[in-house]
Amino acid sequence: MSFTLAIVGRPNVGKSTLFNRLVGKRLALVDDQPGVTRDLREGAAKLADLRFTVIDTAGLEEVTDDSLQGRMRRLTERAVDMADVCLFMIDARVGVTPSDLVFADILRKRAANVILAANKAEGKAGVAGVLEAYSLGLGDPISLSAEHGEGLHDLYTALLPIAEKFEERAEEDAPETDVDLTEEEAEDEDFDAIPMPTRTKPLQVAVVGRPNAGKSTLINQILGEDRLLTGPEAGITRDAISLRTDWNGVPMRIFDTAGMRKKAKVQEKLEKLSVADGLRAVKFAEVVIVLLDAEIPFEQQDLRIADLAEREGRAVVVAVNKWDIEENRQEKLKELKEAFERLLPQLRGAPLITVSAKTGRGLDRLHDAVMRAYEVWNRRVPTAALNRWLTGMLEQHPPPAPQGKRIKLRYMTQAKTRPPGFVVMCSHPDKVPDSYSRYLVNGLRLDFDMPGTPIRLWMRGQN
Ligand code: GDP
Ligand code: GDP
Repeated sequence: MSFTLAIVGRPNVGKSTLFNRLVGKRLALVDDQPGVTRDLREGAAKLADLRFTVIDTAGLEEVTDDSLQGRMRRLTERAVDMADVCLFMIDARVGVTPSDLVFADILRKRAANVILAANKAEGKAGVAGVLEAYSLGLGDPISLSAEHGEGLHDLYTALLPIAEKFEERAEEDAPETDVDLTEEEAEDEDFDAIPMPTRTKPLQVAVVGRPNAGKSTLINQILGEDRLLTGPEAGITRDAISLRTDWNGVPMRIFDTAGMRKKAKVQEKLEKLSVADGLRAVKFAEVVIVLLDAEIPFEQQDLRIADLAEREGRAVVVAVNKWDIEENRQEKLKELKEAFERLLPQLRGAPLITVSAKTGRGLDRLHDAVMRAYEVWNRRVPTAALNRWLTGMLEQHPPPAPQGKRIKLRYMTQAKTRPPGFVVMCSHPDKVPDSYSRYLVNGLRLDFDMPGTPIRLWMRGQN
């Protein structure tokens, strides 16, 4: 059984845009049952491995008189009644309007499940509107950009509990297969049902970067006090200098690679020491923040440490610091993004967040990026969804036939998380070119929305 999502909200907030994105090319069915107006559109929606029905209440003009207001209310109420969950959309660029309050009221009274979304949240213009959305008292808003496809993963996460209630997760129709999974993998299959990482300890975060990038300043800003400047407390060993804090309410342990360096007196040793400290911190961490200095980004040392974090399989967020003194921000950001893609292709898709450790600007975005990277790092894609996806990928771009020998990719499964690792069963594992593996990895990243984490892919023969 599948669930139904109704997108409600005043005209022009972006409901249709989201509807179209969820429904894609699958024909949007115009609801033409007798007695039902054409104002409700219904479609078959797809979001990663979720399948559901989506109803759009678009098609209304901006309300100008009472009769329309009444119509809009009735239409919304009907959509709410038809739906298992409502996505209430506001425009983050405009903020909360009186019209929005009317909708909020209807939803509070009538809807079983409400997901609040602030759309048009791309860029800075939406920040205030997202914050305002909290005032509606309908829970934490999701920042969406229906037009740019941002925030869809958060929508996915919000929908998971609903989907699970309706047993809509895809395992049921997993293809029959005679593939032998190892015991470990078979056990892993059971975890498909676990949507979010369960965390029993503080999230372990390391801040790494070259000397003077601003690591101490950043950590102090997060801690909200000058704890680092006092240096490591007695009794704390070199290997485990970490600080326990709640960052925006999330328990974290932040591994400091700067405090130790501050103690080092010999200038020449600074670089070496800092890299060594970085290595240690990376090993401890779940999420690594690679802190760059906007003035001198992507230096050799930065690249080494970022590459190390990737090879160690950590979730990675790149933060560009000292943004407060940057003058040509737009241009600079473009440059940085280009340099990032060119110099660190192995971290493709990792978030690049501009911050000022000094003023604290951008820290909330950094926090969100850390949380998201952590979530993605723990992501588990159900086997059925993977195999549907694989079929599509093979059709779109079949594997090559080296020396006339056709490589058959038969089946795939996710063998591990932290970071996500996938096994593809195939006929000639050693003949699959790297470029084809990269095609699959890039596709996984894109189609299952997994930025900010390394993705491992293994080809395995069957015997
Ligand atoms: P609806 O009336 O609520 O269904 O809104 P539409 O989907 O028709 O969107 C209204 C306008 O907002 C259109 O011009 C869209 O292109 C624009 N829009 C929709 N989503 C976004 C978004 O995420 N960002 C921005 N900047 N514009 C958007
Ligand atoms: P670390 O060696 O990576 O720990 O770097 P520090 O935190 O000691 O910072 C190095 C220098 O950069 C100090 O003079 C800081 O005041 C300065 N700094 C750090 N963050 C910022 C920032 O966001 N903006 C500006 N303008 N300066 C910063």
